[in-house]
Amino acid sequence: MTDQTASVSKLEQNVSRLRCISCGAVCESAGPNFRCSGCGDLLEVSYPGRESWGLSAAGLKTLWRQRRTSRLAVDESGVWRFRELLPSLRDWHEVITLREGNTPVYELPGCAPIAGVERLYAKHQGMNPTGSFKDTGMTVAASFAREAGFRWVGCASTGNTSASMAAYGARGGMRSLVLIPEGKISWGKLSQALDYGAVTCQLRTDFDGCLRVLNQVVQRMPVYLLNSVNPYRLEGQKTAAIELLEQFDWQVPNHVIVPGGNLGNSSALGKAFLEMKELGFIASLPKISIIQAQGANPLVRCVREHGGKELVPVQAETMATAIRIGNPASWKKAVRVLQATDGTVEQVTEVEIALAKAEIGADGVGCEPASAVTLAGLKKLVKQGFVKPAESIVLILTGHLLKDPEFTLKFHRGDLFAGTEASLAAQRQRAPIVLDASVDAVLATLEMADKAGSKT
Ligand SMILES: *Cc1c(COP(=O)(O)O)cnc(C)c1O
Repeated sequence: MTDQTASVSKLEQNVSRLRCISCGAVCESAGPNFRCSGCGDLLEVSYPGRESWGLSAAGLKTLWRQRRTSRLAVDESGVWRFRELLPSLRDWHEVITLREGNTPVYELPGCAPIAGVERLYAKHQGMNPTGSFKDTGMTVAASFAREAGFRWVGCASTGNTSASMAAYGARGGMRSLVLIPEGKISWGKLSQALDYGAVTCQLRTDFDGCLRVLNQVVQRMPVYLLNSVNPYRLEGQKTAAIELLEQFDWQVPNHVIVPGGNLGNSSALGKAFLEMKELGFIASLPKISIIQAQGANPLVRCVREHGGKELVPVQAETMATAIRIGNPASWKKAVRVLQATDGTVEQVTEVEIALAKAEIGADGVGCEPASAVTLAGLKKLVKQGFVKPAESIVLILTGHLLKDPEFTLKFHRGDLFAGTEASLAAQRQRAPIVLDASVDAVLATLEMADKAGSKT
């Protein structure tokens, strides 16, 4: 506990600022939309003079490990355990936490040869309390909302943000306003927001349309905006990278592969690795590569067609609803991460996503469709030679398998695809087998499956 008090008092000097990513202006107080009051671009959290805070990388590595045995809520959280690299609240004991973070790294022995690599790892952010990585950012941003005295929090969402926000809002005694596109999100996610007590509005538009409406609402009412333009969310999401390095004993993997939707997560992971290099935790950076669905590929086009200088919004269409975003807010941040880490972009088709998802499932892990773009993308990056078979690779699995059971059921029943796509998907399908209640019928099925199984 003495360590605890020492670190808490040291943190009182931990001063962060919001800074514009384009013009560099420091914003003393962010407006309700978290935009630069000068040029209107996004803000990020910066830590001026952090080098002089006397934080040693070795000391922090030890302190963070020690906190794992603590029973304090801030230490049990896999986000706040790393609070030296986060913006500081007035009182660390006032955090809203569901003990997020602390997610496992799994080896994927079945997926590795399929992708053409020797070993493959997945950091499963779907193992967070509400089933997606959104929790790691939400604990930070929701805590700041409550500290600032807000009674309402709000977000536009494809599903997971609303599930997470509604949970953290409820835990923090705040009310939640959720705007979701009508009929285009998974029922699993919607049911979470409802159960956590959010006021949920289904708007007759897409995600981008929901965001436009919300941006007006927060200017007219004191509702704290919790979309990923909120820079505090990205600070919390940084901790997945810190925790990953800790799990790798601070050995930097060669590649980190992440799905791209609104591009907040890839930006956050990149910021974390860059900060950790700056602070001397690591000597090199992983290449961070971002994978999108072919039908929702504005970043891929931005990089390939416009050299990363311009983003032309697209009409997004994909069954991977978490990344069904045509006008990603954080594209400039993501482009910088790609450039700073020498990463790349790739796009994958619907059937490639579905197959990869079933392959991750067959390793006993599973994930939601948006997460599976990482494996589908890796296959292509290996074929192109961008990823070498002997390199160390980590996929970021962003959401839990049970987030979208309808997709999974349809896939295995063969209801997702037609024509040649259907025959591709068939390799991985495991539909339920309807039989009479007879021992012989079950035994015959077992024998057949046993023979067929030894082939795959
Ligand atoms: C939000 C989300 C994404 C996309 O993350 P961005 O930060 O919007 O790029 C991907 N997968 C899942 C499961 C998500 O919930």
